Order: sequence, then structure tokens, then C-alpha cells
Amino acid sequence: MLEIKDISKTYDNGHKAIKNISFSIADGEFLSIIGPSGAGKSTVLRSINQLITDDSGQILFNDQDIRQANKQQLRKIRAQIGMVFQNYNLVGRLSAIENVLHGALGRKSTISGALGWYTLSEKQSAAALLDLVGLGDFIYTRANELSGGQMQRVGIARALMQEPKIILTDEPIASLDPQSTTVVMDYLKKIAVEMNITVIANLHQVEIAKKYSDHIVGINNGQVVFNGQPNELTPAQ
Ligand code: ADP
Ligand code: ADP
Repeated sequence: MLEIKDISKTYDNGHKAIKNISFSIADGEFLSIIGPSGAGKSTVLRSINQLITDDSGQILFNDQDIRQANKQQLRKIRAQIGMVFQNYNLVGRLSAIENVLHGALGRKSTISGALGWYTLSEKQSAAALLDLVGLGDFIYTRANELSGGQMQRVGIARALMQEPKIILTDEPIASLDPQSTTVVMDYLKKIAVEMNITVIANLHQVEIAKKYSDHIVGINNGQVVFNGQPNELTPAQ
């Protein structure tokens, strides 16, 4: 469903961050992109939702080239891509459910929607999603009173509120302790398996990538150095 073909990106300072990257991702697949810091992982994710414009190549989402999409088409594509951030990006003084409801904004086109008039059904969905990530008892807790692992689960619920086809996440567990890491990764995996949502995660811990992924792409120095199943990854990689 997502096919990345030969993309390269040179930043304004002349730095060539990625070179001829190609790989494809199946529906509902859990894909990890692994590699050392500076390898180009974030650049690849930013290309997928077109936060940056690549120099060349194609990114086909259900056979439509995202790079050729006009503004309106791009808005529709982005509405299908949920984001989960390393540092959660929650509004700390707002409750968990209010943060999750923000995810509904991505689906709205009306001004009243943008002003935060949520429907009862949206509120019910937001509460159900918090329940799904094990936070049913924390719906009205302010985000800044939650632990890191709980905040990241709110982040996942917010991304799901958008009813995405794909979740992109850049180092979702880099700020978490080992116990919260397991909980958050378990929920990301559950989403891929049970909701058939494609999850694309940048991770720098190879062992975690191996444990949770269906498919791993290894990047080093801006190039693909591995593309296969976790059990094909040798210890040296
Ligand atoms: P990773 O996510 O694997 O750590 P990045 O994609 O963030 O790698 O970065 C790849 C390379 O591109 C790095 O050398 C980084 O310093 C550089 N880079 C990233 N963003 C920019 C930018 N906006 N301008 C210039 N260079 C950048
Ligand atoms: P992270 O690792 O959390 O993605 P970074 O520190 O790599 O964060 O990057 C933070 C911001 O700085 C990003 O917007 C990135 O594009 C930019 N950036 C990263 N490396 C460089 C660089 N070498 N030159 C200019 N901007 C950069």
C-alpha cells in the first residue's frame, strides 16, 4: 500500500541525508526503521508525510504519488496518517480526553470543528480509545499528571482518533523506562494486528525492533543496508 521508490534528500545546507531509498510496506504491517543516530531515519518519515520535499523519487500511497499530490489531495492523504511523537506533544494542562479529541480535528473541515465543538459520538470514541490503551481510569486526568508511558498511550489514542490507515512514529519509546517501553510497544503492536493499521516506527534499539516488527528496514549513512524480516537480521547488523 505504501511504496517508497528511490527517494533522495539534500538539505538546504547541502547535506545529502538520504540517497536512493526504496522499500515497500504492506497493509497492517509493523515496520521498524532502524539505524544509528544521523542515519536518515527521521528524514524518511518526514518524506512520507511530506513535511519535507525530496529531491527525487516517488512515494506511492495506494498507487497515488504523494509527491505529485496537490494541496487538497495531500490534506486527504495526511488525514490518513496519524503521528505519535517521542515527546508526546500533549497539551499538559488539558485532560487526557481533551488531548485525544484534538486528534479528531484532522478529520474536520468546518470552523466550528476547529474551535473544538466535539460531537457526543466523538467524545464517546475518545473515551473508548483511552479505554483501549488501558487509560479508562484516567480520562479526566490532566496530561501533565500522567507518567511518560501513560502520556504516550494518550498520544496513541489521539492518533487513532483520526481513524488513520498508517501511524508514523519517530522514536516513540526513546523517552521511556523499560517497563513503559514494553507497554507502549505492546499497544502499538496490538493496533497493527487488531485494527490492521500500518505502523512505521523509527527505533534505535535493534532488539525491540526484532521483537515487535514484521518487517525491518535498516538505514546507515542515508542508504538502505537491510530490508527483510526480523529473523533475517544477523547480530552484526
Ligand atoms: P536519524 O533520524 O537517523 O537520526 P536524520 O534523518 O534526523 O537521522 O538526519 C540525517 C542526517 O541529516 C543527519 O546528518 C542530520 O544531521 C542531517 N539533518 C537532519 N535534518 C536536517 C536539516 N533540517 N538540515 C540539515 N541537515 C539535517
Ligand atoms: P530528533 O533527533 O529528535 O529528530 P534533531 O536534533 O535531529 O531531533 O533535529 C531537530 C531539528 O533540527 C529538526 O527539525 C531537524 O530537521 C533539524 N536538524 C537536525 N540536524 C540538523 C543539521 N545538521 N542542520 C540543520 N538542522 C538540523
